[in-house]
Amino acid sequence: MARITEADIRRALAAVPAPGRGGDVVACGMISGVSVRRGNVGFAIEIRPDEREALEATRRACEDAVRALPGVTSATAVLTAERGPAGAADDERPPGAGVGGVNAIVAVASGKGGVGKSTVAVNLALALAGLGKRVGMLDADIYGPSQPRLLGLSGKPDSPDGKTIDPLRGYGVPCMSMGFLVDEETPMIWRGPMVQSALRQMLDDVLWGDLDILIVDMPPGTGDAQLTLAQRVPLAGAVIVSTPQDLALIDARRGLAMFRKVDVPVLGIVENMSFYSCPNCGAEAHIFGHGGARDAAAAAGVACLGEVPLDAAVRETSDAGRPIVAEAPDGAQARAFSAIAARVLEALERDGARPPPRIVIDRARAP
Ligand code: ADP
Repeated sequence: MARITEADIRRALAAVPAPGRGGDVVACGMISGVSVRRGNVGFAIEIRPDEREALEATRRACEDAVRALPGVTSATAVLTAERGPAGAADDERPPGAGVGGVNAIVAVASGKGGVGKSTVAVNLALALAGLGKRVGMLDADIYGPSQPRLLGLSGKPDSPDGKTIDPLRGYGVPCMSMGFLVDEETPMIWRGPMVQSALRQMLDDVLWGDLDILIVDMPPGTGDAQLTLAQRVPLAGAVIVSTPQDLALIDARRGLAMFRKVDVPVLGIVENMSFYSCPNCGAEAHIFGHGGARDAAAAAGVACLGEVPLDAAVRETSDAGRPIVAEAPDGAQARAFSAIAARVLEALERDGARPPPRIVIDRARAP
C-alpha cells in the first residue's frame, strides 16, 4: 500500500478552495498539524472563531479530498479558531477555553483520598457508555493516577506527530493519564503551575474525538492546586464522591464549596461504601453509618446521585483492571452505577447546560 506523506495530503488539500480568502486552503495557510498514522490522517484547519459554521462544508470537503487518496483509511479534520500567538504560554490561555469535540466535561472529585473517587469515576464512565454516551476518561489525579490500572491499560500512548497524543482505550473508553507518561516509581513532586500545564496539555493535545462526556478524575482534596485546576477546565459540572463517615463528609462539604467558588455546578454527591450487603444472607450492615452523604447533600441543597455498597467484588475487579460495570453488567453494582449515570445526565441537562465560554476547537471525526 502506498505510504502517505504530508506532501501527498497537502497536494490533495490544495484542490479545496478557501471561501472568502481567494485561494485554496493550503495556499491560504489554513492547514496545520498534519498527522498520518497507519493510513489514519488528522489535521487542523485554522479559521476565525466566527467562521465555524460557515466553514463546516470546507472541513468536510477537506476530509473527502484526503480520504480519496489511495492508502488513506480515515481522515479527520479539525476546525481550530484563533488561539493567539503561536507558542503562547499555557498560562496565557483563556481560563475555561473549550476542548475540541468534547461536549461536556464532568469532574469526579472528593474531599480526601481513599473514598473510591477513581473507582466511581471509571464505573460511572462505563455506565454512561452503557447508556449510549460517547465517554472519555482524563485521569487528572497526577499525584496518584489509577485509571490505567482500573481500565487495564499499560504502555505509552502514541504521538503520531510528536505533538498530538492518541489516547489508549479500555473497554472502548479513550483514556489519558499522567500514569502513561511517568513510571509509577517516579516521585510526583509537581509544582502547581506544572500540574496545570500538564492537565491543559492532556486536554488540548489528546485526540479525544467526538465525546458526549469527558470524565475528569480529579486529584483528591480541595486545596489551591485543585481549585486552580477546576478553574482551568471548562467543567459542565462536578460529582463529589464521599463515604458516609463524618470526616469524609466534612471534606465533601469543602469540595462543594470549592466548586461553588469557581462557579461550577455540583451535579450531586455519590455515597460510596454506603453499606455492606452480606453476600450470604442479604442483610445490610451500615459499617460507616449510613445516609450521611444523603443528609449532607440535602443540607447543602445538592442532589444525592446514589449509593454504592461496600463490596469486595468492587475492589477485586478494580485491582484486576476489570471494573465491575464491565465485569458484571447485569449485577446489582452495575445497576447502581447505571442509576447514578442516568441522574448525572439529568443533572447535566438541568444544571450543566450553560454555554461554554468560547469554542476554541471543533474536532470532528470522519465516519
Ligand atoms: P480514591 O480515588 O478516592 O483514592 P479509589 O477509587 O482508589 O479511591 O479506592 C480506594 C480503594 O477502595 C481501592 O482499593 C478500591 O478498590 C476500594 N473501593 C472503592 N470503592 C469500593 C466499594 N464500593 N467497595 C469495595 N471497595 C471499594
